[in-house]
Amino acid sequence: MTDLHVPLLDLRAQYQSLKFELDAAVMQVAESQRFILGDEVVAFEKEIAEYLDVPYALGVSSGTDALLLSLMALGVGPGDEVIVPTFSFFATAGVVSRLHATPVFVDIDPVSFNLDPGLLEQAVTSATRAIIPVHLFGQAADMDAIMEVAQARDLYVVEDAAQAIGARCGDGRFAGTVGTTGCFSFFPSKNLGCFGDGGLVVTRDPELYHRMKIMRVHGGEPKYYHKVIGGNFRLDALQAAVLRVKLPRLETWSRRRRENAHNYNRLFVEAGLAEGPGRATFDERNAVLLPKEIHAEAEPGFYHIYNQYSIRVEKRDEVVQHLRKHHVGCEIYYPVPFHRQECFADVPSSNGSFPVADEIARTILSIPVYPEMTDDMQQHVVETVAEAVDA
Ligand SMILES: *Cc1c(COP(=O)(O)O)cnc(C)c1O
Repeated sequence: MTDLHVPLLDLRAQYQSLKFELDAAVMQVAESQRFILGDEVVAFEKEIAEYLDVPYALGVSSGTDALLLSLMALGVGPGDEVIVPTFSFFATAGVVSRLHATPVFVDIDPVSFNLDPGLLEQAVTSATRAIIPVHLFGQAADMDAIMEVAQARDLYVVEDAAQAIGARCGDGRFAGTVGTTGCFSFFPSKNLGCFGDGGLVVTRDPELYHRMKIMRVHGGEPKYYHKVIGGNFRLDALQAAVLRVKLPRLETWSRRRRENAHNYNRLFVEAGLAEGPGRATFDERNAVLLPKEIHAEAEPGFYHIYNQYSIRVEKRDEVVQHLRKHHVGCEIYYPVPFHRQECFADVPSSNGSFPVADEIARTILSIPVYPEMTDDMQQHVVETVAEAVDA
C-alpha cells in the first residue's frame, strides 16, 4: 500500500495553476479600493449570465442568501408552506423557517438522491407557495416533472443549484435557469469557488430581478427610502474579481471531474465491488453502489458536474475509519435528513415517513473527485475502499 495522501479537495492545486492571474485580480481591487459592488461585480454578473444563458444574474453574499433573498422577494412568509427534499444541505430548509414559513419535507429518489417528483402532488396544500428542488452533488433534479406540478398548482420554483453550476437539465438548459429563480454558491468547496463566501441568483423575470436587486441593499429605492425590507446581501468586488478569473476554466474543471467519476465507475467494477452505476440495493456483487448520470446519453454538455462523487457502502463507519487511516479524504453528505433534525421537530411533516432519505443518510459517502486528481490517486482510493469493504 502506497503512502499517497488524497484529500477530499485540494484547493491549493487549483490556486497554483492560476496564481499569477488570481493575485493580479486581487491586487487590482486592492489598488482601486472599491470593495462594494461596482465594476467587478457588474462585469461578473454579465459574464456569468452569458455563460448560463439567462437574462438576469445578481451577485450575492452566499448561496444561503441567494435562497433567502429569492423567498423574501417572492413574499414567502408566515402561513406559507415551501416544499423541500428532506435530504440536502441545511440551508435549503433553514431559509424557509427563518422567514417563519413552514418547510414541507419530501422524500428523494434512491438513484439520483434528488427530490422524488412522484411525491410532490400529495405534498401540495392550499398553503403551498413554492418548491425548492435541489440539484444535489451536481446532478439536476427532474425539472420537467417538477415544473409540471408547479405550473398546474401555480407555485414558485426556487432552484437550489448551489452544488450544480454548469450542470444541465434533461432539456439541455442549465440547472438553476428553469425555475422562478436559481441559486448558486461560490463557497470554496463548490465547483466555482471564490476566496470566501459568495453566491448568485438568476432569473428570467425582469420585475423579480429588480426587486431582488433593491432588496440586496436593504430594499431602499431611492437610497434611504424603503417600500420594502431587504438586507445586506452583496457580493464583494474582491470575490467577483476572483470569480472572473475562474469562470472561463469552469467547463474544463467540470470535464475533469466527470472523467474522474467515469474512471471511478470503471475501477470499482474492475475491483469486483460493483456491477455498474445506478444500483439502488446492496447484494453480493454490489457491495458499493455507484452514482448514476440520469441523462448520460444526451450529450453534449454535462448532466452531472460531480461536485461530489458519492458512493454508498453498508459498513460506512469502518470504511471511513480505514480511509482516514490511509490519508484518503471523505465526508458524509449528509448524515441527518431534515425530518430528523432537532430544530425541525415541531415541523408537522417531520412526522412523515422518509425511508429512502433515511437509507441514503445511513450509507452515503463522498470520496475525492476534484479536477487535479491523478489516476494513481483514484486507484489508491478504490483500493483503500476495497480493503475496508472486503475486511
Ligand atoms: C453550499 C450549499 C448551500 C449554501 O451555500 P453557501 O454559499 O454556503 O451559503 C445551499 N444549498 C446547498 C445544497 C449547498 O450545497
